[in-house]
Amino acid sequence: MGPRDGLQNEAPIEIDDRVRLIDALTGTGLRSIEAASFVKAEAIPAMGGADEVMARIERRPGVVYSALVPNLRGAERAVVAGADELEVVVSASETHNQSNVRRSVDDSITGMKDIVRLAHEAGKPVEAIVSTSFGCPYEGDIAPSRVAEVAAALLDAGADRCSFGDTTGMATPRRVDEVLAALAAVGIATGDIGLHFHNTRGTGLANVVAALDHGVTRFDASIGGLGGCPYAPGASGNVVTEDLVHMLEDMGIDTGIDLDALIAAAHLAERLVGRELPGQVMRAGPRSRVHARS
Ligand code: ZN
Repeated sequence: MGPRDGLQNEAPIEIDDRVRLIDALTGTGLRSIEAASFVKAEAIPAMGGADEVMARIERRPGVVYSALVPNLRGAERAVVAGADELEVVVSASETHNQSNVRRSVDDSITGMKDIVRLAHEAGKPVEAIVSTSFGCPYEGDIAPSRVAEVAAALLDAGADRCSFGDTTGMATPRRVDEVLAALAAVGIATGDIGLHFHNTRGTGLANVVAALDHGVTRFDASIGGLGGCPYAPGASGNVVTEDLVHMLEDMGIDTGIDLDALIAAAHLAERLVGRELPGQVMRAGPRSRVHARS
C-alpha cells in the first residue's frame, strides 16, 4: 500500500522516486503492490502521473500491480496503463461515502458495475474495498451486519473479491471477530477476503493476529508505515509492512518475503518523503539480530 495509500497522504514526491520505491518493493518478494491511484491530479496531487508511474516501473512476473480507480474514467486510464487489478472503494457508512464521493452507497455500488464490466472485458479482476468496516469517524460504530450486507451487494455487482478497510484505525480484535463472523453468516468465506488495517490507535498487528485465527491470509500494509487517508480526519498509516512480515515469520508463517530487502525499502521510503516513519523493525532490527549484537 505504500506507493498508493501511503504516498497519497504525503507531500507529493517526484515520479522518479515513486518508481524507485515500487521497484524496491518488487525486489522484496511481495506478490501484490498497489502502485497508483487514477484519481484526478487536482484532487490528490501526490497521485498525479499514475499513467507514467505504471509505464516506468520494472515489472516482475508473478507480481500483481494494482491501482485504485475512483470512477469509470479512472478505470479506463488504469486499464490502458496496464494495471493488473483494479481497486474500487465503497464505504459501509452512508455519511462517509457521501463525504468521500458525494454519492449514496447504493449509487456507488451501481456505478461499480460499469467498472467491473470494463475491467472484465480487459481480463482484469476488481477488488472492492469496503471502507469504514470497523467504525466511521462520522457515524461511530458500523453494524457488522451492515458491513456484510454491503460486501454481499458488491460481490453481487461483480466484484471478484472484497477487502475490508479500517479507514480510520477504529478496529480492535473484538471488532475483527464480529465483522468476520457477520461475513461468515452471509456466506462470505474468510479465506477469500482481504483486510486493510490502519495503525492509528496501535491495534493494527493485534487485529491481524485476530484475523489469522479466522483463516484470513491477505493483509494490506504500508512500507515504513507511510500514509493515511486524506478524507478521514486523524487517519494515520497502514500496518507497517516490515513489522508485519517480521511478526508473521516468527509465528512460523512463510511469507516468501525478504525482510532485509523490506527494511532497506522502508529506509528508502523514509529518505524519499523526508520525515521519520513509524516503522519499528526498521529501527530496532529483526529479533534474530538482537542476540548477535549483544
Ligand atoms: Zn487505507
